[in-house]
Amino acid sequence: MITSEEFLERLRRMRPNCYMHGELIKRDDPRMLVSMKDILMTYDLAQDPKYDGFITATSHISGKKINRWNHIHQSVEDLLLKQKITREFSHMSGTCIQRCMGCDMMNALSVVTKEADEQNNGKTEYYARFLNFLKEWQDKDMIGAAAQTDVKGDRLLRPHEQADPDLYLRVVDRKPGGIIVRGCKVHTTVGQYCDELIVTPCRSLTPEEKDWAVCFSIPADTKGVKLLVEAANPTPRKAFPAEVAKHGIGHTTTIFDDVFVPYERVFLDGETRLGGRAALLFALYHRHSYTGCKPAYTDILMGTTALIAEVSGIEREQHVRHKLAQMISVAELVNAAGIAAAYTSTKASSGTQIPDVVFCNVGRKHAGENIYHEYDILCDICGGQPQTMPYEEEYANPEFRPYLDKYFARKKDVPPETIHRAFRLAQDLLAGPLTSNMQIAGVHGGGSPIMEDIAILGTYDIEEKKNIARRLAGIPEVDPKAKKRK
Ligand SMILES: Cc1cc2nc3c(=O)[nH]c(=O)nc-3n(C[C@H](O)[C@H](O)[C@H](O)COP(=O)(O)OP(=O)(O)OC[C@H]3O[C@@H](n4cnc5c(N)ncnc54)[C@H](O)[C@@H]3O)c2cc1C
Repeated sequence: MITSEEFLERLRRMRPNCYMHGELIKRDDPRMLVSMKDILMTYDLAQDPKYDGFITATSHISGKKINRWNHIHQSVEDLLLKQKITREFSHMSGTCIQRCMGCDMMNALSVVTKEADEQNNGKTEYYARFLNFLKEWQDKDMIGAAAQTDVKGDRLLRPHEQADPDLYLRVVDRKPGGIIVRGCKVHTTVGQYCDELIVTPCRSLTPEEKDWAVCFSIPADTKGVKLLVEAANPTPRKAFPAEVAKHGIGHTTTIFDDVFVPYERVFLDGETRLGGRAALLFALYHRHSYTGCKPAYTDILMGTTALIAEVSGIEREQHVRHKLAQMISVAELVNAAGIAAAYTSTKASSGTQIPDVVFCNVGRKHAGENIYHEYDILCDICGGQPQTMPYEEEYANPEFRPYLDKYFARKKDVPPETIHRAFRLAQDLLAGPLTSNMQIAGVHGGGSPIMEDIAILGTYDIEEKKNIARRLAGIPEVDPKAKKRK
């Protein structure tokens, strides 16, 4: 394992290809350092003996101690620990832990590369390539971005039907040593401060879509890769420095302008049957990660709601207690879905543990459907203060501070600074630069809501439920297998 400083050194050595506000920026640009603070934290915490065995794991291929976010889950316990560290570490930063991206992609690839070789009767060597890459990945303690979502053009057209075939990333040429890819992935979290861009298709593919059925990983500074940066960073604090104001999150629009990918880094090529499987597996692992980070974020919104209610003297009011109970129900049901998904997980032929599809998706769906409701609750309990309160400079000004301490007082005996700090936190959560990121990610991250419904309905046994109804109604039951055959 490496330290956060060693990781930063590695980023500094990369070819500059990140563009922001009209500039070619360095990967250690001060704005990037805020966006990547959580990533740095994952290195620092792994060095802390207190977290040994929690944030660290033992590699199943080398036997070495590795960061748990670089681990391929081997057991129910591994899935439970991944979910638990995600919830716990999101509490520390107040935002998205970000390192799940690479972890979820690598787990998906560990399953699909092995399945592809099996389906090809050993004629391909995707799994061996993957294992070589995994070894490097774990030894170098790398960060990966999940570059899955294509720009997609006309939403109702398949990749090969689009007016421009590059609207889904595809192979445009095959050379003796590798392939050439072209396309653009969007919303790539950690794209500007990762080691590797790990690429999979974002949908199922038909037999004529061989060129789109491609999975690979390449260094993020590879020739032809251009990263257009967005950074959702919190408003810096002056008068009331606080942890929440130190952690942002960044995304890129990731352009692949005829990029060469050597074969040793190609993990699927032309396997249309498995392109969709790769996409679904990443989404599945990612939705399981959400059963850790979404409850964490509800915890943060809920704790802030309770704190504001406390300093305002309304904590014991019925409507406040009812709203807190709603938030608890969201956090703990989503968490419970993740635990259930781990306990009902299955083993892939590669040995990787795969969480249950229905539990992961119902958990993620419940979180997504409630995200704006949670903000609504915090907004209700806060009143208008998070939007209209004076800037920090006025709090720092000795002329105004006595007025602000006097007039913003609430419950007797609560120190003015506690009140200022609580509302400043509520402002960061409700009206700060990260607010929209957490809201939009709450709905679309890991796939739009309809994708959860498709995953649930595609797996769930509705026929069995209809037979329950038939039994109760006195209607003859139908053999679901006979129905499928028709
Ligand atoms: C903050 C954030 C971080 C993200 N991080 C990552 C990341 O790290 N890596 C990554 O790969 N992706 C990432 N995503 C992308 C995320 O998975 C997508 O936003 C999501 O899959 C939706 O895709 P889209 O944004 O293109 O929206 P669209 O697909 O355009 O969806 C918009 C609406 O159109 C509907 N729609 C789309 N297609 C059809 C169709 N064929 N028929 C009917 N209706 C349709 C959808 O159901 C939805 O209601 C991130 C997203 C956000 C917001």
